[in-house]
Amino acid sequence: MSASLHGAFFLSLALFSSFSNSFVSAACTHEYGQATYGDIYQKFQGLEASGGSTYAKGARANGLHIYIDPTVTEIEETAKVSVHEYVHLLQQGYLNEELVLDTAPTGGVPLSDSSSSVGNGLRFQAINYCDVAEATVTKHLEALNAMPDDVKLFDHPTFVIFYSQTPGEGTGNCDAAQTETFARDAFNAIYGEDCPGMESTPMIWEANENHVVAEGEAEFLATNVYTSSYTSFNGKAYWEQKIADGKTDCKLPGNNPNFYVHSGSSQDVDDMKDKMQNAGVSPACSNNAIGELMYASFVNYCLEKEGTNALDDYCTPEALRRVWKAAPTQGFDCAFFNQYGWTWGEVVAKMYAEYQVDTSAVATTVPSLCLYDQTCSGEPKPCRRLPSYTHDEALAKCPFEVIASCGDISLSSASSSSSSRSSPTNAAMISAAVAASVSFFFAFFLN
Ligand SMILES: [Zn+2]
Repeated sequence: MSASLHGAFFLSLALFSSFSNSFVSAACTHEYGQATYGDIYQKFQGLEASGGSTYAKGARANGLHIYIDPTVTEIEETAKVSVHEYVHLLQQGYLNEELVLDTAPTGGVPLSDSSSSVGNGLRFQAINYCDVAEATVTKHLEALNAMPDDVKLFDHPTFVIFYSQTPGEGTGNCDAAQTETFARDAFNAIYGEDCPGMESTPMIWEANENHVVAEGEAEFLATNVYTSSYTSFNGKAYWEQKIADGKTDCKLPGNNPNFYVHSGSSQDVDDMKDKMQNAGVSPACSNNAIGELMYASFVNYCLEKEGTNALDDYCTPEALRRVWKAAPTQGFDCAFFNQYGWTWGEVVAKMYAEYQVDTSAVATTVPSLCLYDQTCSGEPKPCRRLPSYTHDEALAKCPFEVIASCGDISLSSASSSSSSRSSPTNAAMISAAVAASVSFFFAFFLN
């Protein structure tokens, strides 16, 4: 686990203890509910200027956390962040096997808990306690509503919680004295005081997530595809500039012999960042930049393999949604192969060549993600295998059996990122593991 995840974990624990007295009156006291509350509380504290999403399986609604810099005037550029975070909600919905709908219900979306009808019943709603300009709030909701119907798949609303602080000063437009009140009101409005339906111990879905694809997809769709509500913001140009900046920050092409995304898991990306940091590569080569660079190469690969119309007829947003949907039962890599007909290793090896990281890399040297049994409890440990399967092996074997099951996640002797884990034997270990899992989840989808 990386330093940043440790940081998030300890911060969560600190938050639990700091607000537990005030929160004790609320009925939603299970661990995931408290962690969700803690996430909201932390944002209202104004200590971080970032976007995020909170997906809570079974809950009557879900939330986007949107930071608005009060000095920024490009409203549509900020609305892009809401679309990006919503794409993360979709990914999480599929990985949790909660999203099963292929087409959206029409009309307004009632809270799935009909006995507690708070909110206005609309699919996208805003919580604005920090005096964010109404034009900004309206634009964010407009951008979300302008997305195609086939991604409006939740049977419950999505709340956009707006935070607005003066950068570097902690608090600004959000009244610091109201932090606790705001956090509790927002939590209760979205999830309900008793958080009806919210699962207290969510599945270990992160283990089947491909982190670089998740980040790349979210930003690509928000800037290149779901852009019909933008009139002044040129999403495509913004994306191109981000890719150019990402290459500079990550010292690509060439000049970065550590740009190995490997399986694409969060663990592999964190390991890679540690190596880059030790080699003096700027911290600006962030998880988001890595995901975007990978995704840009994935797009190039698809265009090269499937023709100039491939983004419209082959590598469509729907195609990647099918990958997410199949990932919990097939594993990400087999779901990816079954959808596109190329192995993850083939795409990554091409990326290494494109960015001159390693021109001799071949598909079978790229680790692939295991299929992880998400019903396992405990700390998520994305598992990878070395070497990757060949194209023919993928044809013969996909979908793989569950090759990483509870208590046995280290099947490959060559896998450096996975480790043996015995089943937790007491409540304290289970509790710590769930807390780690929850904080891992929040760290994962921070931006
Ligand atoms: Zn993101």
